[in-house]
Amino acid sequence: MDLKNLAKDKAENVLNTKGIEITCPSCKNKFIGKSMLVECPNCHKTFDVEFKVN
Ligand SMILES: [Zn+2]
Repeated sequence: MDLKNLAKDKAENVLNTKGIEITCPSCKNKFIGKSMLVECPNCHKTFDVEFKVN
């Protein structure tokens, strides 16, 4: 069992269900993202989500 992958799966599960709060790296707008690739509703820039695994 790879714990790192397990944590990543769990984080991805949260991401896909509840979503996570994302701060746009471009305009600093905060919004809820539900996929690994999100589009900022403010500046419409797309970027990959990076989330911390606790
Ligand atoms: Zn933005």
